[in-house]
Amino acid sequence: MDTAIIDQERRLVTELPGPLSNELDARRRAAVASGVSSVYPLYVARGAGAILVDVDGNQLIDLGAGIAVASIGHAHPDIVAAVQRQVAEFSHTCFMVSPYEQYVAVCEALAAVTPGDHDKRSALFNSGAEAVENAVKIARHATGRAGVVVFDHAYHGRTNLTMALTAKNMPYKDRMGPFASEVYRVPMSYPYRDPEGMTGEEAAERAIELIERQVGVANTGCLVIEPIQGEGGFIVPAPGFLPALAEWCRANGVLFVADEVQTGFCRTGDWFACDDEGVVPDLITTAKAMAGGMPLAAVTGRADIMESVHSGGLGGTYGGNPVACVSALASIEVMQRDDLAAAARRIGATVTETLRGLQADLQGIGDIRGRGAMMAMEFVRPGTSEPDADAAKRIVAACHRAGVVTLSCGSYGNIVRLLPPLVITDGLLADGLAVLADAVHTALD
Ligand SMILES: *Cc1c(COP(=O)(O)O)cnc(C)c1O
Repeated sequence: MDTAIIDQERRLVTELPGPLSNELDARRRAAVASGVSSVYPLYVARGAGAILVDVDGNQLIDLGAGIAVASIGHAHPDIVAAVQRQVAEFSHTCFMVSPYEQYVAVCEALAAVTPGDHDKRSALFNSGAEAVENAVKIARHATGRAGVVVFDHAYHGRTNLTMALTAKNMPYKDRMGPFASEVYRVPMSYPYRDPEGMTGEEAAERAIELIERQVGVANTGCLVIEPIQGEGGFIVPAPGFLPALAEWCRANGVLFVADEVQTGFCRTGDWFACDDEGVVPDLITTAKAMAGGMPLAAVTGRADIMESVHSGGLGGTYGGNPVACVSALASIEVMQRDDLAAAARRIGATVTETLRGLQADLQGIGDIRGRGAMMAMEFVRPGTSEPDADAAKRIVAACHRAGVVTLSCGSYGNIVRLLPPLVITDGLLADGLAVLADAVHTALD
């Protein structure tokens, strides 16, 4: 069956999960390590646009996009064509052995779309965590300073170094140490939970004072920050926070590393979340939406910093795989041609209206936040700011049972987040939001 002709509508033909999903889940329990968990056991057979079809033939609305990866939709015809063509030509040489144009072209595209018009260089990797690790390697090498400053609620990955950079113990780190040294954590600007009226500049000063007193500028090589935090709860810092940090970095020879693995590539209504306040990072890490579902990640940065690393100091067997590269080139072209940044802004306006309506009608929604097609609700016990993780869990499960894929997140697990494909139709978005609204009413009434 041609995936491209899947109707963009939700359609349930069994209870969820259906019998074939249940069968697969039984096989899974006997074969797959349970440390790798899934939000809900609906096994996918196909996808197109913002619809996933499960093995029982149910059509689900995808409001998670595989964690902000499928921004141009599932099975986009341009990706299918580019990948099929490349696989038939060659699928691997290792760029460090026998180079190819596709890798070069992705680095050219990254130089063009990432913030700032300075001279840039890029290196390609396989995952977001690997990109963040390499950004730290490069920053340490370029500055000769080992200290890495990260933020409360940060998520940067699951490898040993990135576990150290990630804030939350459960489930990411528990009993998996010892962790890498020379990692220092400072408070994030979190307007909903910071002292009332704290400005972005004041929140930056709070962080900077700690860095200067506890780490010392001369020991600090880089500061790694998500301009809008993802797994930590879609935390949008107060205006002025990022520019003040970037300014302090510039004045002190500390590299400002923006981890835009989740926020990048049109998700927030700009090409990158840093663009919103005109912040130009020294290094930027990208992955997720970059390659339309193929595993690809990058570090892009100021040429002088990137070029400080000796020949052979960066690389890997699969980094910049040619199939992933052509998928990235096709994705970036679709984002440019169809102006998916504008689509993200339209989605954001629609989602915000629905979520604000729910917040006005119900007790227990502490905060609505996000930017563009990256929006979330923070659930709290009515009349308090005490996190209510149980409400978030019930809502995500209820949405799944009704055929809408949503995700939770947050340091306290009390946040429901929406990351729809940017190509979602108005009708599908409206239906998905109606299901979400029902689930929220049921959970909070
Ligand atoms: C997902 C994510 C990562 C890790 O990416 P992987 O591809 O899962 O290794 C790193 N940083 C941020 C901000 C992320 O959202």
